[in-house]
Amino acid sequence: MKKLALVKDDLFFQHTNGPNHPECAERLTSIFNKLEETKLIDKTVSIDFSPATEEDITRVHTKEHFDRIKATAGKEFVKLDEDTATCPVSFDAAMMASGSLISSFDHILSGEIDTAFTFARPAGHHAEKNKPMGFCLFNYVAVAAAHLLHKHKMDRVLIIDWDVHHGNGTQNIFFDDPRVLFFSIHQYPFYPGTGSLKELGYDKGLGYNVNVPIPSMFGDDDYLRIFQEILKPVITQYKPQFTIISAGFDAFFIDPLGGMRITANGFAKLTRFVMDAAKDHSDNKIAFALEGGYNLGELGNIAKEVVEEILDINVSSTEFTKENTMCDHTIDEVKEVYSPYWKF
Ligand SMILES: [Zn+2]
Repeated sequence: MKKLALVKDDLFFQHTNGPNHPECAERLTSIFNKLEETKLIDKTVSIDFSPATEEDITRVHTKEHFDRIKATAGKEFVKLDEDTATCPVSFDAAMMASGSLISSFDHILSGEIDTAFTFARPAGHHAEKNKPMGFCLFNYVAVAAAHLLHKHKMDRVLIIDWDVHHGNGTQNIFFDDPRVLFFSIHQYPFYPGTGSLKELGYDKGLGYNVNVPIPSMFGDDDYLRIFQEILKPVITQYKPQFTIISAGFDAFFIDPLGGMRITANGFAKLTRFVMDAAKDHSDNKIAFALEGGYNLGELGNIAKEVVEEILDINVSSTEFTKENTMCDHTIDEVKEVYSPYWKF
């Protein structure tokens, strides 16, 4: 069986944004209760990891940003913006999130494990170079991607972000850098307001920031079709050395924050799609990192479906039907905008 590391730490459960906040530790409790109850956890492995260093973080964030988050350590409650706040251990949790993802990549590259799913809190994809935002302190996927560039000398890292919200932070960090290709499919217009078809990258990074803004109510078939018709050709041409999934589960059909229609099995299908693509074009180097997802009752089921897919206990079909004319329109528009950079 495939060696899958599930990465978690007590700090990820201890971080809080304050009372009655949708981004809460119960999200992880829902996930791990289900994985334990179904004994799936016994089919996975653990790895050693340690917190990130200041040097790791400041590869993608400014020193000013790092110091601002560090200054919250030990403080009871610091409100950073309307949605984002810290408790005494939030800084440590964010350092551990980045460090554990870095470690999981190192373990994959050394061959010790096949893949990993890091279930960290706080999440990262809204955190920009110089700004915490949207429940995010440090952009842990970006920090770990920069580790691949710096320590493993990679120059083609793919980040696929299927969280219902646009990953403005990841876009902001790698906007002019072709060594990281950022692909985001997200509800639009929606929080955080970015992610349009005018944001294609900048300078050397032009064309390496692929946004697929979609209206609400898109479901499993629409996502699979967009993956097949847009993402797949981009992957085939880019040939990533490593694929990272910013795996938010808030495009789920009954998520309290998102407006999409993906089912739990739909997330398994997306997982199958990106694993197949990684097998064909990314030397099987792929890892998953939790971003959003707020349905406390169902997050466990989603995680179960995805983990069963990663372990090949289930092998879902990635076939789809073309029923949604809104999806035809989206695909045509995205292809037209990106056609100077990619062949579709
Ligand atoms: Zn989200």
